[in-house]
Amino acid sequence: MDAVAPAQEPAPPAAVELIALTKRYAGGAAAVDGIDLRIASGSYCCLLGPSGCGKSSTLRMIAGHESVTSGDILLENRNITDLPAAARGTAMMFQSFALFPHLSALDNVAFSLKMKGVAKAERHAKAQDLLERVAMGHLAQRKPGELSGGQQQRVALARALITQPRVLLLDEPLSALDPFLRIQMRAELRRWQKELGLTFIHVTHSQEEAMALADTMVVMNHGLIEQVGSPHRIYNAPATEFVARFMGGHNVIDTGAGKVAVRNDCMLIAPAEAPAALGAAAPIPATITDVEYQGTYVLLGLQARAASGPTGVSVMLPEAAFNSRPYAPGEDVRLSWNAAHPLAA
Ligand code: ADP
Ligand code: MG
Repeated sequence: MDAVAPAQEPAPPAAVELIALTKRYAGGAAAVDGIDLRIASGSYCCLLGPSGCGKSSTLRMIAGHESVTSGDILLENRNITDLPAAARGTAMMFQSFALFPHLSALDNVAFSLKMKGVAKAERHAKAQDLLERVAMGHLAQRKPGELSGGQQQRVALARALITQPRVLLLDEPLSALDPFLRIQMRAELRRWQKELGLTFIHVTHSQEEAMALADTMVVMNHGLIEQVGSPHRIYNAPATEFVARFMGGHNVIDTGAGKVAVRNDCMLIAPAEAPAALGAAAPIPATITDVEYQGTYVLLGLQARAASGPTGVSVMLPEAAFNSRPYAPGEDVRLSWNAAHPLAA
């Protein structure tokens, strides 16, 4: 490195930094394969990827529930790689909140202090205080079965916060909830994270959930990080074919000059015989295979004859556009687009 190079901008403080972090279970391939990641302090970070890609292994290593094969984990610049879970400054919130059904909300929240030998009066005072902070003080004596899903989530949050963590780790906390509650609960999680100003690291396999929650999304595949960025950035500029396909709503098209990702609402379609120019790219001939009414939109499935060969493509048309020029299965059309994003090979 050049000794007289100008000093770099200081990077914003990282709550958690992973350096060449690797997990290899006995006899297996690397579940987490040397990943590097900086998670900004006070941010909501979602680790996103298909089942088996290494999200939970990564989270459990940060929590100290799983040993590290190689690499390092820093929490606020402290190397915590070999510290016991309780000494790290992290806390974990589990799937479906995992509250003790036979304990009151208050005793659930106070549980970890009880394990540490904190006297009853003190631990109850602290637990009550935390329940007040999540607007659950008046229900402290209820058992989990007597609380709504939303109220249980707040108890679980208070229970995780009682150890005064710097970083809250959440492994698929919403995945066992029914869809309506899941959407309600994720809005609450997001609100609490901003209000508390803590760093949240949330594992999910749901693109929709990650996009709704995250300041920063980390898309993982096969133990590696494919892309890190804001939901907007990742959705609009997927770096790789994997990210474009996994996020959904995109077509991956080989133009002959490389692969591009095109949002299916950025596709342009015209009848095969129409003479007018169409979009920014040379039109590709295609045949309609499916027409699916989705309310505001109509989703067309097509078989396109791209440079690289037959390619399945979907096109989302506003209902009004479809109604003014409907398409039917079997019809030949031309496809183009008005915005494409090149994909890394
Ligand atoms: P995710 O949370 O993304 O679904 P995991 O981190 O749970 O992925 O798993 C990553 C890979 O490691 C998978 O191939 C999984 O089978 C393997 N794995 C996870 N936990 C263990 C374990 N305790 N022992 C052996 N292999 C494991
Ligand atoms: Mg998992």
